[in-house]
Amino acid sequence: MTATNVHLHEIHKFGSMAERWWDLQGEFKTLHDINPLRLQFIQQYADLAGKRIVDVGCGGGILTEGLAKQGADALGIDLSEDLIDVADLHGLETGVNAHYQKISVEELAEQQPESFDHVTCMEMLEHVPDAGSIISACAKLVKPNGMVFFSTLNRHPKAYLLAIAAAEYVLQMLPKGTHDYKTFIKPSELSQSARAAGLELQGMVGISYNPITKQFSLGKDIDVNYIAAFKRIV
Ligand code: SAH
Repeated sequence: MTATNVHLHEIHKFGSMAERWWDLQGEFKTLHDINPLRLQFIQQYADLAGKRIVDVGCGGGILTEGLAKQGADALGIDLSEDLIDVADLHGLETGVNAHYQKISVEELAEQQPESFDHVTCMEMLEHVPDAGSIISACAKLVKPNGMVFFSTLNRHPKAYLLAIAAAEYVLQMLPKGTHDYKTFIKPSELSQSARAAGLELQGMVGISYNPITKQFSLGKDIDVNYIAAFKRIV
């Protein structure tokens, strides 16, 4: 089956930066910086040790490795061959228990429904044609009562100002053209699509950047970047 819910230009854009994925000061510095916060949030809702977890749109494996380091049996999936290669290689170097596969989440959900204890899908929904299809596939992959975690950018004017104008142009924290405001997703829209897929919201927090201290933190402000935890209801 060929994946259809994909913007190939997005896959090429991320894939073209594959070899710099693990450069802590490179284009993906932000993902490295927020990774401990995402793991902290996830662990508030889910025990990771010994759990089978799939990380959807894993890129070079920053979160996937983080999950594996907490004892999870982690599978990362992405449609970029170059990123899957980078993730595999990095995993070999670090020796963590993570594996990777180039497959769409929709196809994996067809093959292995209700097979994962938890599912993560970070900073990916804003890069696909149909976020609802990704959300339903994540819901299908998780076992009943398992947790599904999403993070994305809010279609709020503040996100345009901070995540695009400031982050891409003024502070140059992200490569220009990383994000397109139209594809951002309001928290109400995410919750609604999730609910329609049988996922119940358990908690949501914002991931904010302080340009003075250059630190990220979790907090109440969900206007820009946010992370949410959902439980699959039986
Ligand atoms: N989730 C990772 C990477 C985020 S970057 C992290 O937060 O650390 C966005 C990723 O989504 C890229 O790796 C890109 O290749 C992937 N992606 C985009 N569209 C996709 C699709 N339709 N299916 C799977 N992965 C996709």
